[in-house]
Order: sequence, then structure tokens, then C-alpha cells
Amino acid sequence: MTHPSDLKLESWLVTAGRSSTPGAPLNVPLVPASNFIIGAGREYARDDGTSTWEALEEVVGGLESGRAVAFASGMAAIASVFDQLRAGSHVVLPDDCYQGVAGLVAAGAERGRWTVQRMALHDTAGWVNACRTADLVWLESPSNPLLGVADLEAICAAPRKTSAVVAVDNTFATPLNQRPLEFGATVSLQSATKFIGGHSDLLAGVATTRDPAYWHALKKSRELTGATPGTLECFLAVRGSRTMALRLQRAQATAMTVADRLQGHPAVELVRYPGLSSHPTHATARRVLKGYGTIISFDVRGGADAADRACKAVQLVRHATSLGAVESTMERRAAIPGQEHLPPALLRLSVGIEDADDLWKDIESALRSVPR
Ligand SMILES: *Cc1c(COP(=O)(O)O)cnc(C)c1O
Repeated sequence: MTHPSDLKLESWLVTAGRSSTPGAPLNVPLVPASNFIIGAGREYARDDGTSTWEALEEVVGGLESGRAVAFASGMAAIASVFDQLRAGSHVVLPDDCYQGVAGLVAAGAERGRWTVQRMALHDTAGWVNACRTADLVWLESPSNPLLGVADLEAICAAPRKTSAVVAVDNTFATPLNQRPLEFGATVSLQSATKFIGGHSDLLAGVATTRDPAYWHALKKSRELTGATPGTLECFLAVRGSRTMALRLQRAQATAMTVADRLQGHPAVELVRYPGLSSHPTHATARRVLKGYGTIISFDVRGGADAADRACKAVQLVRHATSLGAVESTMERRAAIPGQEHLPPALLRLSVGIEDADDLWKDIESALRSVPR
């Protein structure tokens, strides 16, 4: 089933991927299978998928308004896009993006597979220009962890070199806040580990495209690299997706409140949240995003030590990496090997679905350990 245009995405999330055969389980069944009885087209799972993987693909394909391929992780989905590049291709990458992508691109450049140019997300003219020369224009918006917002509407519609691919890592926005394929992107990427799964209990990724040839190429890449998703993971991701709209709505309302309060707190030097009017690309965010998301990056006074103390002091907020789950998590990003270029006292907070006042009480209490 494809997403009917008269159905809101919130309703699609509840109904997508289900069977309508009388007698079939109402819920998507968990089908652990490597091979199938020959005669109906589906023979081997790595080549042909399984019904449980396809349920996740149906859910996310409808959300992103394209056709999806599910992968073992967000990085596996991302790697399948880079897998398409011919030797000597030119890649343009944001100066702020997920460290795994930056690492993958740097490793490929070192082996001579492609050349790389980094660009600021707010440099719309630069990105529009890059579309004429690059083989792969890679965008991530809002970006991890500096929360830069790109004018995807303008960039994805820009004229591009024949066969050039515009890819958008849409994990932070989720398809509920932004649909890159509608702007004209070739492919949109989700780490389903985050908002789609939403419970910190799985790794999965999804790539979605409207180009049938590109869809076949991504699926072929999954088959040949073996980057197949786990069946339980797809089952859990579909189950998580049922409540995604509710979770996002609640958490991003809380995030706005928390960002606003952080901005007025004497122990906080700088707050980055696309919903704040002080955010450098707030005007673009207002135009391009339906909601500002649940991630806030803020710098505390007193440097890395003060930031580490705040991480140790939070209780309701868990000191952990990752994002997009029911529970709030916080970490100091520059503490991660390879991320030393980030502001040393930057804390990335992923706001969950807890009560806003309880969360704020916890954060405020943790900030007492920070000099002001
Ligand atoms: C987590 C994340 C990824 C990688 O996803 P995995 O499922 O961990 O492989 C990619 N991009 C962004 C923006 C992410 O937050």
C-alpha cells in the first residue's frame, strides 16, 4: 500500500505496513527467515527482503513520499549512497555533519575514491553552485550537533549536473517536519535508530527515493554488501513508528520551553535551537521545517570541566549518547574522539517525552554545578 494523499501522516503511521487479508494478524508479524519456498519470486532474504523489512519500508516510504530500502543501520543506508559513486567523483559535504558520515567521507578520500569540499549549511548560493559541479551533494539539516539549517527548498530545486545526486540526511528533522524528496532531493536518509524506533532498543536505517533506477541501485547495494536489516529491528522500528507523531509533538513542544529557559539561565553561554529567534538560520527554519525538533545544543560557562559536571549531575535526563527516544539524553560532544573541533563546553540535549517542568527542574539542578 502506498500513502494515500488524503491521509495525514499521523494516521498513515498507525495504519501503514499492515495486512488487509482476512485472518492475517492485525499487527505486522515478525518473520525470521533467510530463504523461502521457490515459486513466488521471493527466494533469499538478502536479495529479496522479507515481509517484516517491507513493512518498515512501506511506513518510511509513505512518510518520505518515495520508495524505501531498509538497512542494518543509518550508516549502512548512508554507505549505500556513497557506494553508487564512480571513482574520482566530487562530493560536497556540510562543515557540520554526523561524525560517522564525515569519517566515511574522509576514509574514502584518503583512498582516492572521491574528492571532498566542505561548505557551511547557511551558504545557499554556494550549495546551489555546487549542484552544477558535484556528483554528490550531501546535506544534513538540521545538522548534528550545531543545528545548522539549510534552505533545502532552494538547494534541492537547483539545476544540477546530469546524474548528480542530492542526498539529505533527514534524521534530525524526521519526515514529519521535513520531506526532502518533495523539494527535489534524489534520496532522503533516516537513522531509524533514532525517532522512528524511538526507544533506544534497535539499530536500523532507511533510504528513500522517487527514482526507480536509483531505488534498484540502493537495493542492489544492500544485497551485494550484505547491509541487511535485522528482522526484530524492523519489527521494533515499525512498532515504534506508530507513536512517532505523538512523541515528536510532545518532545518538541518541551524542547521549545527548555531552549527558551536555557537561554535565560546565567550558567549558559549560548543556546542553539532552530526554534529560537536568536538562531542564525531561524528564518530559514521557519520556512522549511514544520517543527523545530527535539535537539538542543548549548554551551555552559566554565569549559569542558563544567560541562562534564553537568552531565554527571543530571538524573531524569540520562548521561548517554544518541537521540530521538522517549527518554531525554545529554552528552558533551567534544568528549567524543574525533569531535575535538567542537566547542569544548557544548552539551547536546535530546529532549524526550517526560514532563517539561520535571525536566527543567533536573537540568536547573545540574546547572548549579556550573560556575556563572
Ligand atoms: C545516528 C545518526 C546517523 C547514523 O545512524 P546509525 O543508525 O547510528 O547508523 C546518521 N545521521 C545522523 C544525523 C544521526 O543522528
